[in-house]
Amino acid sequence: MKYELETIPVWEAYEADAACPLCFLSRRLEAQYVTFYLGDSVMTPEIRVQVNRRGFCPDHWYALLESGNKLGLALMATTYIETVRESLTRDRRALAGRKGPSRKTFETSHARMTERTADCLICERMAHTLSNYAYTIARLYTDEQQFRDRFAVSNGFCLKHLPFALDVAHKALKAPEFAAFADAVFSVVDEDLRLVHSDLSLFTGQFDYRSTGPVTEAMKAATPAAVRKIAGTNRTKT
Ligand SMILES: [Zn+2]
Ligand SMILES: [Zn+2]
Repeated sequence: MKYELETIPVWEAYEADAACPLCFLSRRLEAQYVTFYLGDSVMTPEIRVQVNRRGFCPDHWYALLESGNKLGLALMATTYIETVRESLTRDRRALAGRKGPSRKTFETSHARMTERTADCLICERMAHTLSNYAYTIARLYTDEQQFRDRFAVSNGFCLKHLPFALDVAHKALKAPEFAAFADAVFSVVDEDLRLVHSDLSLFTGQFDYRSTGPVTEAMKAATPAAVRKIAGTNRTKT
């Protein structure tokens, strides 16, 4: 894929001191695209056709619902459901005929239904832009001392975005550049995991019968912080 440099949002994520800059950016993109699909675009014929044909994943149907624009979503869901009903009529004809479907017919129809839930316009656009952000991180790390300094005191990435960031960097950088970037990534990620692990130990240590001190708010924060590190802060797949 062709990457584009997006230095401003990437710097913003690092200046926000996000637990994972890619999660921070992913959440922001998600909010932008949800707004986009419920804004004036709902009335644009090309967008309507795209939505009717592909729709969204379950997470993003809910994100659209939770954004509060019930009318915009109702308009979109109305024509989406019309398209789905036409498609299901074809599936019914294929699967529920008197003789029953051939294996091939069943598989084609089943794949079409599965794809309806897996395919998502918002996930696709998020993945595309997030790749540009990951590319920018790798590029800035390679090209700018100021960014390298900031990166060295960052929290690294969550475990969901770690392989993603490395994959984009691996495709974009020359081998020695990639090795230098990977070394810095593992260094910040490991340091962050060490801190998370140590906070968890303090928290669980308070439940030991020999322990006398109180369980502080900081200790209680250790478990959600660990989950954020392990799973990221955006529940969607991107
Ligand atoms: Zn992340
Ligand atoms: Zn999605």
